[in-house]
Amino acid sequence: MTVHVWSKGGVGVDLLIRGARAVDPQHELDQVVDVLVRKGRIAEVGGGLEATGRTRVVEADGKLLLPGFVDLHTHLRTPGREDEEDLTTASAAAAAGGYVAVFGMANTEPVVDSAPVLEGLAQRAAAEATVPTGFFAAVSKDLAGGQLTEMHELAEAGAVGFSDDGVPLATAQLLRRALQYAKVTDRFVAVHAQDDSLMGSGVMHEGAVSAKLGLGGIPAIAESADVARALEVARYEDGRLHLCHVSTELSLEHLARARELGLAVTAEATPHHLTLTDEKVYSLDSNLKMNPPLRPAGDRAALVMALKSGLIDCVATDHAPHAQQEKEVPFEAAPFGTTGLETAFAALHTGLVLSKELSLALLVERMSAAPARIAGIPSPSIASGAPADLCLVDPKERWTVIAADLHSRSTNSAWLGESLRGRVVLTVAAGRVVFERA
Ligand SMILES: [Zn+2]
Ligand SMILES: [Zn+2]
Repeated sequence: MTVHVWSKGGVGVDLLIRGARAVDPQHELDQVVDVLVRKGRIAEVGGGLEATGRTRVVEADGKLLLPGFVDLHTHLRTPGREDEEDLTTASAAAAAGGYVAVFGMANTEPVVDSAPVLEGLAQRAAAEATVPTGFFAAVSKDLAGGQLTEMHELAEAGAVGFSDDGVPLATAQLLRRALQYAKVTDRFVAVHAQDDSLMGSGVMHEGAVSAKLGLGGIPAIAESADVARALEVARYEDGRLHLCHVSTELSLEHLARARELGLAVTAEATPHHLTLTDEKVYSLDSNLKMNPPLRPAGDRAALVMALKSGLIDCVATDHAPHAQQEKEVPFEAAPFGTTGLETAFAALHTGLVLSKELSLALLVERMSAAPARIAGIPSPSIASGAPADLCLVDPKERWTVIAADLHSRSTNSAWLGESLRGRVVLTVAAGRVVFERA
C-alpha cells in the first residue's frame, strides 16, 4: 500500500540550467554547477555542460537551484469550496512557491472519509493538478469524532496518512484506535492538538496583546495540554504520530521528552509561526487570525531553535484559503487561516536565513527532504538519475506581496503588503515546467 500523488502528467522536459548555485544538503551539495535535464530526469550535474538539439538553456547566474519543496499540510478546499480553491489554482499557487508535491487535508465538503471520495479526488487531480497532489483521509466519519473511517481501504486508495485536521480529535480513545489501525496500514496520524475547553471562544493568543486589545484569548496550554495527551496515547500504543502546526514552547517541551523516550513522533511548524508574532495582531487585520494563533516572540524563537535542532522535523504551510467576503469582517468574526504556499520560501528566507537564524541548507532540508520522508515519497534530489523536481530562486529579488500577483483563488495572506527577499522564478515538478515567472 504505497502513498500516491496524482497529476496531469505530460512529456518530460529537456532543459539545461546553467550556472546556478545548487544547494542540496542530502548530497552535501553547495556549488555552482550546470544541471542537465533530459526527458524530465536529471541526466547530469557538473561543470561546462552543453545543450544539444532542442534543449532549452536557462542562464541561472546568481540564482539558487534547490530540490523542490513538499507541503504536508495544504487545504485544497476541493471538493465543496471551489470558490476558495480548486486543484488547478492550488497547483498554480504551489508551483509559484517552488512546491513539487502537496498533500491536502481531509476537511472538505464532503469530507475525505471514504475510498470513493478519495478516488474521485484522485481522478480530478489526475485531470487538473500540475503539481503532484496527494491526500489525507479523515480519522473519523465526517470529522464527527465518532466512528472511525475504513482506514485500510483509504490507505489502499493511496492516502498519505489520517487526520481530522480542522478540528481536534474528540477523545483520546479515538486517537488510540486510529493509531492502532494506522499502524496496520503503515500510515501515521496527524493531529491538530487543541483542547476545546481551554480554547473557548478565543480568537488570538492569550497574553499581553490580547489583554490590550480586549480580545478573547487562546492560552498556550490549549495546544500543549492536547499535545501531552496525544503523546501519552502514542507512547502507550507505540504508534506513529505527527503533530500539526506546533506553535508553543510548552508543546516543544513535551515533544522533546517524547523524543528522548524514542517515540515515533514527527512535527511540523508553519512559516507564519516561525516568522510572525502576536504583536502583528495590533493591526486587527483578519488575515493574521489563524489557529493555532500567532504567539509571542519567545515561542517563535523556541520554534526556530526546534526547527534547527530537528525537534521540529519540517515546515508545513497550513495553506488555508478563505473567500474574501468571509475575511472582510471584524477580527472576532473572521474564520481562522492564512494562505501560505506562494510565500513560504520567501518568508522563511527573509525571516530566518537572511537574519542568520537558520542556514539555507537546513531550510531546504526542512522544506523538501524532511516532509517527503514523513509522507513516504521519494525525496526531491539534485543528483543524476533523479526525476527533475526542482525550483530556481532569485535570492536577491525584493518583492512586495500583493493580492493581484497571487495564484491561489483566495488572497487571505498574512504577508499582504510585506516586502520579502527571494523569489521562485522557475519550478520543475515531476519532470515538467509547472511555473515560470514572466
Ligand atoms: Zn489544524
Ligand atoms: Zn490545517
